[in-house]
Amino acid sequence: MGDITVVKFGGSSLADSNQFKKVKEIVTSDNRRKFVVPSAPGKRYKGDHKVTDLLYMCYQLASHGLNFDEVFNLIKDRYTEISKELDLDVDIEGFLKEIRYNISNGASRDYTASRGEYLNGILLANYLGFEFIDPKDLILFDEDGNFNASNTESNVSEKLENISNGVVPGFYGANGNGEIITFSRGGSDITGSVIANGVRADLYENWTDVSGFLVADPNIVVDAEPMDIVTYRELRELSYMGAPVLHEEAIFPVKKHGIPINIRNTNEPLDKGTMIVDDESPVKSKGITGISGKKDFVVISVEKTMMTLEKDFFRKLISVFETNDIFIEHMPSSIDSISIVVQASQVSHKLKKIIEEIRIFCNPDNIVTYPDMALIAVVGRGMIRTKGISAKIFSALEKSSINTRMIVQGSSELNIIIGVENKDFDKAIASIYKAFY
Ligand code: ASP
Repeated sequence: MGDITVVKFGGSSLADSNQFKKVKEIVTSDNRRKFVVPSAPGKRYKGDHKVTDLLYMCYQLASHGLNFDEVFNLIKDRYTEISKELDLDVDIEGFLKEIRYNISNGASRDYTASRGEYLNGILLANYLGFEFIDPKDLILFDEDGNFNASNTESNVSEKLENISNGVVPGFYGANGNGEIITFSRGGSDITGSVIANGVRADLYENWTDVSGFLVADPNIVVDAEPMDIVTYRELRELSYMGAPVLHEEAIFPVKKHGIPINIRNTNEPLDKGTMIVDDESPVKSKGITGISGKKDFVVISVEKTMMTLEKDFFRKLISVFETNDIFIEHMPSSIDSISIVVQASQVSHKLKKIIEEIRIFCNPDNIVTYPDMALIAVVGRGMIRTKGISAKIFSALEKSSINTRMIVQGSSELNIIIGVENKDFDKAIASIYKAFY
């Protein structure tokens, strides 16, 4: 299909007519930008509401038989402003009337939520002079509401093949019965990735309100440097710990064919942003690419002499967590002990029960729990080949008088996970950052 860039714009990038103008500038300044994926209008200022949240609220009120006009009027104002200010040739009143009618008459939660993207797509297509393509005919879900990646891929390639410029609203698709199904919140990022994969784009640009990822959380490290390049795998390791610029599932569709993602800032279009590239790309690294982390874990440490000689020991131990519906984050071990690291919120009211069950089922010598633990992931593709990285990390922690409680070298060989007490979390991140930047 030639040189194609798929561009996705987030909610704040399309929050009002002024933002629409910036988006048009960006799209029209490069004719490779052939397919545009919009979110619903987001917040215009702090304290403002996202249209998607307003739609969910309309659904909630309607499903309880309550009047939702007040909330619906806020939505109406948002689209009317955009349409009027940009002088668009769209019967926005008519579309809104139909949607309002459908919500009043029992439309589903997903249908209701998806209308934010749908309407923004109609307005944007008109403004850009691009074809509007409804994702209900493009993005396919099965009867259980699961995304059908392989059928969607062929469907997208086929249906978009002869379209030179199109707008495909983000966030939703439909099942075999034509019922609208949405991705999880923030899912327009996934739509963009799916379209980029389907048309075999050369690049997937994801435009938002920050100039890419920062090496560390700016609330902790005020002047944290931006990340120029990060690989898909590194980003997974970082996003797992909570760096919510991009929906974590948005990597998978483009990963298949190694299409890079460029995170860009609609309000600072000259900034290069962060490039997310294939793991095989020959990219240099300073040693570490990013630092992220999360507080509030509990470590359950189980001791038993000769545990490794009991063939069923680990299975039994893990089944206690499985049957209590708990996700295990990490399991560092030594010869006669194993630690199970879980999120505190998951075990809070079940901890006693779990310990009792481990006692009954595994018959350990001792069980000790350590609450209030934080985990920090130091991630870097260059780590395996560079000497002295861990020395630098741990001497930085030591200099800041931080006690390291746990160390896991990730099996991906591109991260080191460090457990510290919650109270040392910010200080630990700041001191590791300082040691490298
Ligand atoms: N509008 C949806 C949300 O707020 C999807 C998205 O913006 O990606 O979650």
